[in-house]
Amino acid sequence: MPLEIHRKTTRAIHVGRVQVGGGAPVSVQSMTNTSTEDVAATTDQICRLQLAGCEIVRVAVPDMAAARAIRSIKSNITIPLIADIHFDYRLAIAAAESGADGLRLNPGNIGGMKKVSEVVRCAKDRGLPIRIGVNAGSLEKDILKRYGGVTAEGMVESALRHVEMLRSCDFDQIKISLKASDVSRTVSAYRLLSEKTDLPLHVGVTEAGGLYPGIVKSALGIGMLLADGIGDTIRVSLTRDPGEEVRVGYEILKALAIRRHGPEIVSCPTCGRCKINLFDVAERVEKALITVSTPIKIAIMGCVVNGPGEAREADVGIAGGDGIGILFKKGKVIRKVPHEQLVEVLLEEVDRFSRNLKVP
Ligand code: SF4
Repeated sequence: MPLEIHRKTTRAIHVGRVQVGGGAPVSVQSMTNTSTEDVAATTDQICRLQLAGCEIVRVAVPDMAAARAIRSIKSNITIPLIADIHFDYRLAIAAAESGADGLRLNPGNIGGMKKVSEVVRCAKDRGLPIRIGVNAGSLEKDILKRYGGVTAEGMVESALRHVEMLRSCDFDQIKISLKASDVSRTVSAYRLLSEKTDLPLHVGVTEAGGLYPGIVKSALGIGMLLADGIGDTIRVSLTRDPGEEVRVGYEILKALAIRRHGPEIVSCPTCGRCKINLFDVAERVEKALITVSTPIKIAIMGCVVNGPGEAREADVGIAGGDGIGILFKKGKVIRKVPHEQLVEVLLEEVDRFSRNLKVP
């Protein structure tokens, strides 16, 4: 029996043209790591994220120069942009006035209800949602004291406290994130929160680390929650180029069959039967297809003996042989191809497949 995922019903909010929650597809986000006031560098990075499939991007807004830069950045990008604010409500208002599509701030940290209501009025006037982002490392002192440290229960209480502040200003365009750097607390906190609210949830494991630990923690944390039906938008956090975050985000969604995006590559681990440098072949194919969004299943196998059979479900695939490999589709051999031409021939087939998909 395939895994059946029943997504929890949440309220819909809109970040620019992207719906989050309310049954919309789980969206993939990332965050720039350029200095936001460097408009050229930030725009360039966002354009690369767009190509990788990023659907919502967040930028840090540490000062007024960053808030003002949003106007120029927005004029050169097509995906919605969220301004990440800490402590200073004036930055939130300036970012909104510069055209941000959403704000990420915690109302309990901006200096009282008068300031909260000013930010809310500004968000309402422009139809912007606000993400409350609770981090395990910055819980309120009274909560830490009551729960004896950072706990999932304390994180949830903190989030709901921020929610109440926004609701008291008659504002409900809210989504919530609850991030810890460990999988266990992150998953427990989101599970608990999901029982207590129908607001859409932004899911991720924060400060997950470099490539290997970051991918493992994110895949486990985000994956467990998505398998529970929890999560309306995701961000993988890696100490790497943010483009890698987007790539890993889609791999998680593809692995759970929640979304199809871009090629799904199946490649064998190789064994003593392998007659081709498969690591190199797989890497070249992956790199060449990095910006392709066509959902196509591709197999890259080490040998003709087992390759096509093991990859019967692939739309197209290649397998190595003794100097000569094969091209196959849905497990059927199409033709023999010399090893040095295998990658090129496979990429031509993927291109043909993509073009055929677009022709009704
Ligand atoms: Fe080994 Fe061939 Fe299977 Fe790859 S496809 S693991 S080379 S038997």
